[in-house]
Amino acid sequence: MNAPAPKPWIDAIAPYVPGRSTSDDGRPMTKLSSNENPLGTSPAARAAFASAAAALEIYPDGSAIALRDAIGAHYGLEPDRLIHGTGSDEVLHLATGAFAGVGDEVLYVRYGFSVYPIAARRVGAVPVEAPDSDYATDVDALLAAVTAKTRVVFVANPNNPTGTYTSRAELARLHAGLPKDCLLVVDQAYTEYLDPEDEDGGLALARTEPNVIVTRTFSKIFGLAAGRIGWGYGPAPVIEAMQRIRAPFNVATGGLDAAIAALGDTEFVARSKAHNDRWRGWFVDQITGLGNAGLRAVPSKANFVLVLFEGALSAETAYKGLMERGYATRWLPGQGLPHALRITIGEEAAMRAVIAGLREMIGEIGA
Ligand code: PMP
Repeated sequence: MNAPAPKPWIDAIAPYVPGRSTSDDGRPMTKLSSNENPLGTSPAARAAFASAAAALEIYPDGSAIALRDAIGAHYGLEPDRLIHGTGSDEVLHLATGAFAGVGDEVLYVRYGFSVYPIAARRVGAVPVEAPDSDYATDVDALLAAVTAKTRVVFVANPNNPTGTYTSRAELARLHAGLPKDCLLVVDQAYTEYLDPEDEDGGLALARTEPNVIVTRTFSKIFGLAAGRIGWGYGPAPVIEAMQRIRAPFNVATGGLDAAIAALGDTEFVARSKAHNDRWRGWFVDQITGLGNAGLRAVPSKANFVLVLFEGALSAETAYKGLMERGYATRWLPGQGLPHALRITIGEEAAMRAVIAGLREMIGEIGA
């Protein structure tokens, strides 16, 4: 050995592939590939981020006290049971790192968020996938996959990349069936897109149960993906363990300040949800209306739709055709979905152009 050797479990990681913003030949595209907010962000958040430049030489508040207080006040949560992260990605890593290690198992559903296997492997744990039920989370399959080695169970609700949703009753049933020494992580990155009656009870579980945490992000409905702010809420001992391994100054002041301002702009959040409801509904109707071309929209409660290509037009052809027309979508062969595109709900013009492009391609191949 004449060079440092990565740990075998690090070698086993398939790198995260971010959504694209340029075409194969380098042209900029309208990005429908990373579930960002097409309406931008709150003007107050943008201003707060800019103001933070005045104190660039000063470390950010490593405890994020103002942010945790603001989140606590906004959602009715105890600030000392909150942890902030470099996006919710970091919070997922902290939960895994604090509660799983070499030889342990980390469980999630097939077609789950692609960071879960990376978080597991990073600490030497074994990622375990339970079968889905027509692309949705299957609580029975998850429970059947639990072993004595299972330390962390991830459920994204709504789930990425499928957009599917697990009801409050199903989530409670999953929790009730898990051993008490398994940490259930309810990843609510897209929860703000749910209608109030679909609230999944994750925060209530995290308040009362010793083995449940919820993770949230400012990257989606708040439109702050570049600010890199996420958070987690859970039992004090769980949060304290995660705090011990968090980098001391993990997020920048601009992100912290922008997140606090974004929380206060409820009008922007409401407008973002209304836009998403409207254009997701329209988009799904249009996909369904393409008739017998073999396209199917997986029922979504998030800000994207997974479109299955089960006819003559393949997902790969559609992906490339949409790219030629200037639209980046997410084709996910690496996640076992070579027959699907995940398409973010963007601006009206983008949604209309995607449907027009698909219709053209279907016409061209006579599907
Ligand atoms: N969880 C899910 C299900 C996601 O889709 C994402 C974003 N792709 C994240 C967590 C992490 O987002 P962020 O780190 O920007 O908070």
